[in-house]
Amino acid sequence: MPLSGRTILVTGASSGIGRGLCRAYSAAGARVFATGRNEAELATTVAGLGDGAAVAVVADLTTAAGRRAVATAISHAGGTLDVAVHAAGLLGPPEIPLAHYPEDEWRSVLEVNVTAVHLLHQLLVPFLDAAPKPTVIGLSSTVGREGRAGWGMYAVSKHALEGWLATLAEEFKGKVYSVNPGGTRTPMRAAAVPGEDPQTLPTPSDIAPIFLRLAHSGVPEPTGGLFDARDWIDSDPWEGLRTDPASDA
Ligand code: NDP
Repeated sequence: MPLSGRTILVTGASSGIGRGLCRAYSAAGARVFATGRNEAELATTVAGLGDGAAVAVVADLTTAAGRRAVATAISHAGGTLDVAVHAAGLLGPPEIPLAHYPEDEWRSVLEVNVTAVHLLHQLLVPFLDAAPKPTVIGLSSTVGREGRAGWGMYAVSKHALEGWLATLAEEFKGKVYSVNPGGTRTPMRAAAVPGEDPQTLPTPSDIAPIFLRLAHSGVPEPTGGLFDARDWIDSDPWEGLRTDPASDA
């Protein structure tokens, strides 16, 4: 299978896009580490992915202990990690102008969307550095690439994440990508745009193709690339790539 031999960490795996990506990566042959705080939801994610194909790690990534638990799980499983997908995210209160944005929410959203990504990455560096073709994928947002009133620290944090990814792309030996999922049928989107009919939105499974492609060891797209997942819906993720396991060696 195209991702045989690849080991992939997905944060935010207990819900929405992270859950969908775990399933897509596993179906493509990858070994998956799935992490989130909600143990029952995480168990639902990994259920049915196959014996030994997925490891669930319950962790609050805003805590040092939570981040260490993720690194320890990877270490105990042999220390192999090829791809880190940072899908965990916090919306914060919607439709509050910056002028009135509450300080505690500001700090919480910044902590999950930026600081936890950075500090978790630092713990993952030894594993990623040991991988032949490592990849880091950050989940950005349309409001991380342009200003939009009322999106508060969520928008600010996604701009910061873009900056973090751009900086890392200049430093990291592997590939670094930013993917904007676009509006996707998840609990976060329902909270962000309550009046919207979810049936009009793509599902996490629909937007998986670009995430699958970018996790492949032979992906030709240059590091530092910015992608919109909606542009890749219905596309063949493996176009132009070797999909036999030997290509992942
Ligand atoms: P969901 O709200 O459905 O899922 C968010 C995930 O983040 C959950 O698994 C949650 O797990 C995890 N999470 C939140 N806080 C923490 C924490 N402190 N520690 C560990 N995990 C945490 O969101 P989506 O699936 O919609 O979003 C996934 C990513 O995509 C996010 O980064 C989001 O910003 C981005 N995005 C989403 C869009 C959309 O339309 N859905 C559009 C653009 C970007 P738990 O609660 O178990 O900890």
